[in-house]
Amino acid sequence: MTMEKGTIDIKTENIFPIIKKFLYSDHEIFLRELISNAVDATQKLKTLASSGHFKGELGDLTIQVEVDKKNKTLTVRDRGIGMTADEVKKYINQIALSSAEEFVKKFKTKTEAEKNAIIGHFGLGFYSSFMVSEKVEIKTKTYKKGGATKAVRWECDGSPEFILEEIDKKDRGTEVILHIDDENKEFLEDYKIRELLNKYCKFLPVPIQFGWKTEEQPVEGEKDKDGKPKTKEVKVPDIINNTNPLWKVKPSEAKDEDYKEFYRELYPLSFEEPLFHIHLNVDYPFNLTGILYFPKVRRDYELQKNKIQLYCNQVFVTDSVEGIVPEFLTLLHGVIDSPDIPLNVSRSFLQNDQNVRKISGYITRKVAEKLAEIFKNDRKTFEEKWDDIKIFIEYGMISEPKFYEKAEKFALFKNTDGKYFTFEEYKKHIEKTQTDKDKKLIYLYATNVEEQYSYIEAAKERGYDVLLMDGVLDSHFINHLEQKFENAHFARVDSDTIDKLIKKEEETPSKLDDKQKEQLKAVFERNINKEQFKVEFENQSETDMPVTITQNEFMRRMKDMEAIGGGGMMMGAGNLPDMFDLVVNTNNPLIGKLLIEPDEKKQDQMVKQLYDLARLSKGLLKGKELSEFVKRSVNIIE
Ligand code: ADP
Repeated sequence: MTMEKGTIDIKTENIFPIIKKFLYSDHEIFLRELISNAVDATQKLKTLASSGHFKGELGDLTIQVEVDKKNKTLTVRDRGIGMTADEVKKYINQIALSSAEEFVKKFKTKTEAEKNAIIGHFGLGFYSSFMVSEKVEIKTKTYKKGGATKAVRWECDGSPEFILEEIDKKDRGTEVILHIDDENKEFLEDYKIRELLNKYCKFLPVPIQFGWKTEEQPVEGEKDKDGKPKTKEVKVPDIINNTNPLWKVKPSEAKDEDYKEFYRELYPLSFEEPLFHIHLNVDYPFNLTGILYFPKVRRDYELQKNKIQLYCNQVFVTDSVEGIVPEFLTLLHGVIDSPDIPLNVSRSFLQNDQNVRKISGYITRKVAEKLAEIFKNDRKTFEEKWDDIKIFIEYGMISEPKFYEKAEKFALFKNTDGKYFTFEEYKKHIEKTQTDKDKKLIYLYATNVEEQYSYIEAAKERGYDVLLMDGVLDSHFINHLEQKFENAHFARVDSDTIDKLIKKEEETPSKLDDKQKEQLKAVFERNINKEQFKVEFENQSETDMPVTITQNEFMRRMKDMEAIGGGGMMMGAGNLPDMFDLVVNTNNPLIGKLLIEPDEKKQDQMVKQLYDLARLSKGLLKGKELSEFVKRSVNIIE
């Protein structure tokens, strides 16, 4: 064969300008595509060798990546199966081209959002190299013996013309040489290439060398004066990838420490150790391996999506796994590797894909099973980690009915004394203390032990338990549980007086009649902010506080929802006023005294003092009013 010139058979239109312009936004993926091809070619040769079809020496199969800044080239070199001249014509000129054409055609009809979703994924293949090159050369020599097996060189400058000629090449395999164009000079920088190799190729199954590094190695037979072996610096190939990542190892062969170490490898910048890991490993009815970690999150705002990395046969694809794993699990960390996830499609398609649904269901089940197992085998550890994992579990229970079904057996409630209960246990626990008139089971809860201290104490004095619901998702979670639990109601300890929250059969009688109440109401109303506080009377016990402030559960929940941006259908943000009840205890002796106090000035002072004390214990007394209260109190002492 002498030199041959030809025209690549482009069917629709010249795709080169499109590859260059339209796909410009994510051009870095070319490196992944080329290295994936090199890995494929190497794996194919290994398969041929193990089946006896290739009898030669495999030798060193390391893939090399080289930057030559002076000549403006970037080279990817493998020692895989290589190609004959005919194969180059068939695979590069025809097949690769038509699939690139296909890709470009599909790509052009997509919306901007869909483009972004698929561009990072597979599809464009070898021709993606034209995104960054003014000219691409392939030098390749097939592993086959005899016949037309001379090495060949292919060259194309991004016009449909190509050159194909025989060359001398010593080594088996393929070398792809990109002549980087001026607009893409960054791909001639070592740091840039290293960054991309780290991103896309970190766990590829064939070693990839990028340059050299120095390593301390012992010198044989020589010792230093302390008797330790002498070492010297030697230059060794810098292999950038871990060819056998932990998720590919059988779960039974990996130790706890291995998982921790692998976590550090995945997230070198994280200081925290993960709480749990879950090793995924299925090959039927789909193929999926991976490791998921429950991260330790110090503060809620550290919660991040897009920490899970998605791989396809160890090639990094994306770190946005929405649509593939259930929403609540996108908060986890780790890797998922599956050749069965269709990658060059849009997200809306992914969500409706049968296989993806099955995968998502499988992951949900696995996570639930692992948690159930830890709960069963080591409840102590589970409880210790509960506060950290609670957010993931609540999120899952709210958003995935299937997960709820499993999780309701191990999800925990924590009370204000720091004791943990399963739902079942807690129900039994409070059933013993409650005899609610309406036959409802009331789950009293607090969202802040400090702020709601006096209310919690009041509940405890009556023998009631109080839950601590201080997580970011707890208000949603409570709504959800009320739909799930039969005949149960959640009430924050300060949403009413305790005796109203848990109603008794026999009611405490009042020491005041209606007329006296009217009288008192007027006294209170002339001293308080009527816009914010509504005066209510209640027959509590003599020892209960004379005046307390409560906030209706329903109103408060609306406010909470509004604050997290959930209740804004009718109302704009911040439009709901903070309304409270000022509950006057008809049976407290001080209230009786207040009623018969003849001096109006003194009466007003008493009310102001009671009103302020109630506000103080609710944390509502601030600024000028607080300072006035302090002055008034000092005067009273004097
Ligand atoms: P894909 O990899 O999806 O098949 P590509 O456009 O990347 O598409 O490559 C087309 C074909 O060219 C490959 O299927 C393979 O047959 C051949 N090829 C590409 N790179 C190499 C290589 N480094 N060694 C051997 N064959 C290769």
